[in-house]
Amino acid sequence: MIPASFDYLEASSVDHAIALFAEHGDAKFLAGGHSLVPMMKLRLVSPSVLIDIGRLAELSYIDDRGDHVAVGALTRHRELEDSSLLAEQIGLLAHVAGQVGDPQVRNRGTIGGSLVHGDPAADLPAASLALRASMVITGAAGQRVVPAVDFFVNFLETAVGDGELLTEIRFPKRTGTRWAYQKFNRRAMDYAIVAVAVQLGDNPGIALVNMGPTPHFAVAASAALAAGAPASKIADAVLEGTGAWDDSNATREYREHLARELTTRALAKAGYTS
Ligand SMILES: Cc1cc2nc3c(=O)[nH]c(=O)nc-3n(C[C@H](O)[C@H](O)[C@H](O)COP(=O)(O)OP(=O)(O)OC[C@H]3O[C@@H](n4cnc5c(N)ncnc54)[C@H](O)[C@@H]3O)c2cc1C
Repeated sequence: MIPASFDYLEASSVDHAIALFAEHGDAKFLAGGHSLVPMMKLRLVSPSVLIDIGRLAELSYIDDRGDHVAVGALTRHRELEDSSLLAEQIGLLAHVAGQVGDPQVRNRGTIGGSLVHGDPAADLPAASLALRASMVITGAAGQRVVPAVDFFVNFLETAVGDGELLTEIRFPKRTGTRWAYQKFNRRAMDYAIVAVAVQLGDNPGIALVNMGPTPHFAVAASAALAAGAPASKIADAVLEGTGAWDDSNATREYREHLARELTTRALAKAGYTS
């Protein structure tokens, strides 16, 4: 499929990108292009203008900020995967980045693009939820910080408004570094049919991939985990608030079975003992 025609503009800074959007209106920001371009080819979106933010070096970094690690929105999946700082401090994020697609996708795709696209089948949104990240959103009116649990508002819709940029993601450091990610798919490079991210330690979290219209933070299971409940009880609680569906990959019942089973496996792999 061929996308509808569009104009292409390259932003030279965050402020320039926001100003270009204000000037042109019917526009989309282009980061790695690995979700946006397929959507344009299918004509699910047809912006008149693409504003390329992909070369904004000011949004590509992984910084130790004391109590948290700050990641620029244009940091590529490959850079997350290869980061020794993340491997040491936020291991779940580095590992999950290495589970996204194949090397070509990881060399181009950005964490910001993945989060703003908001696909419930994507890996990094679930990791961000389990890690209780905060999202820094920048627009003409300034900056605001939105917790990950409030970021994913609907199918392919996030708290980032028209003309705003996701500029930074903040991952709190925690005592204890045990975590696990269990991704179930048919082939190594595929999107998850279901996946479960588990982070132990203080303020633990559990999040699910592909179990509803948005990336899903498992509120009840995370509370049970924090309370030290048996793994079987946490696995039962993980379905609360989910909205799985039938499709050609799996029935709703099978997805629910996977969510429980992958939660049990993730807790065991992370070394959880109640
Ligand atoms: C073959 C293939 C396999 C894949 N497999 C997986 C997989 O297994 N798991 C997985 O999680 N993902 C997978 N992906 C998706 C991949 O991770 C994408 O890179 C990612 O979803 C989008 O990142 P991007 O930088 O390419 O964003 P883009 O495609 O450039 O943008 C996506 C959306 O976000 C907006 N946007 C981008 N950056 C910003 C920003 N900073 N602020 C505001 N808006 C922004 C864009 O306007 C657009 O609406 C796959 C993609 C392909 C093509």
